[in-house]
Amino acid sequence: MTRALLAGLLLLTLTGCERAPPVHQHAFFALGTLVEVSVADSDPQRASRAAEAVEAIFREDHQLWHAWHPGPLMDLNRALAAGQGAQPHPSIHYLLERAAPLAERSGYRFDPAVGGLVRLWGFHADTPPEGPPPDADALRDWREHKPSLADLYWDEDQVFSRNPVLQLDFGAFAKGYAVDQAIARLRALGIDNAIVNAGGDLRAIGRRADRPWRIGIRHPRAPEVLASIAIEGDESLFTSGDYERYFEHEGRRYHHILDPFSGQPATGTTSVTVLHTDATTADAAATALFVAGPDHWQEVARAMGLRHVLLIDTAGVAHLSPAMAERIHFETDPPPPLRLSEPLP
Ligand code: ADP
Ligand code: MG
Repeated sequence: MTRALLAGLLLLTLTGCERAPPVHQHAFFALGTLVEVSVADSDPQRASRAAEAVEAIFREDHQLWHAWHPGPLMDLNRALAAGQGAQPHPSIHYLLERAAPLAERSGYRFDPAVGGLVRLWGFHADTPPEGPPPDADALRDWREHKPSLADLYWDEDQVFSRNPVLQLDFGAFAKGYAVDQAIARLRALGIDNAIVNAGGDLRAIGRRADRPWRIGIRHPRAPEVLASIAIEGDESLFTSGDYERYFEHEGRRYHHILDPFSGQPATGTTSVTVLHTDATTADAAATALFVAGPDHWQEVARAMGLRHVLLIDTAGVAHLSPAMAERIHFETDPPPPLRLSEPLP
């Protein structure tokens, strides 16, 4: 079962087991994942129209931001590779504006300038690659150039790169941004209670009639729920895991979250879950903290203004911020070994 399907089931299992008023559900594939829109609204027609508006947003984003299918992002990457400036599509312009401070605060652990590296590892493909890992010379060459979002500069509305190997890939936060756009549209259409769930990463607004939304967090190494959390008001929950897209070669797992400094899949972590108000930040942060790993996640979380973090390391230890520990309920028996951090301000 794909992670997206499993994530959908987790959500349904946790929200659907008790008697509840009807929730309009609408599901479709976009941005490489199963997207499920759940709208709790007294007017079924309004709920269904709103869910379809969300689908339209995701479909458009999918086309605009695809890193390896023809479209505006490929056009921009082609221009940058040729050393030319280009006027990006407005939505790409906006993504770049959102990405810049997030990348900087993360110490460039989250850095959408890694497109060339993602391609070298073979993750620019509709199905995960089979390996082997890329050629050492090609990786060394990329590391010697070490492109970063800080290499971009603007001249009026044209963007240029100082670095010839800089290629953009928005995979680490595009889903988050699409979810934020979707919630804004739902609100504009008069919806107060909804979840937009993109493959287990989601933002919820309002509540599910008389109680909060209950969300499951997937166990990174077993097809079961590791923990659950009640979400109410307006919050986003995003997880990055090494089980999402990976290949195995000579007994080692090579996954799709790359450390821009080593050029290799980030080590030490199996999953990171971030709870935050906006989904764009939560998505970028989950990737950044995954790269930071068990020894450095706290400094990156502080720099990115996070309070609620759960990181599962490769030994299965759950590292948590105190605020996350207050919210989360572990569902496994026994729960994983816990390591509580200092409070994040
Ligand atoms: P998922 O989308 O599977 O939930 P992430 O949000 O962590 O996982 O995004 C991973 C994707 O982001 C990769 O497939 C790749 O396209 C891109 N990527 C990988 N490493 C980085 C990084 N360090 N910074 C920015 N983007 C990255
Ligand atoms: Mg992410």
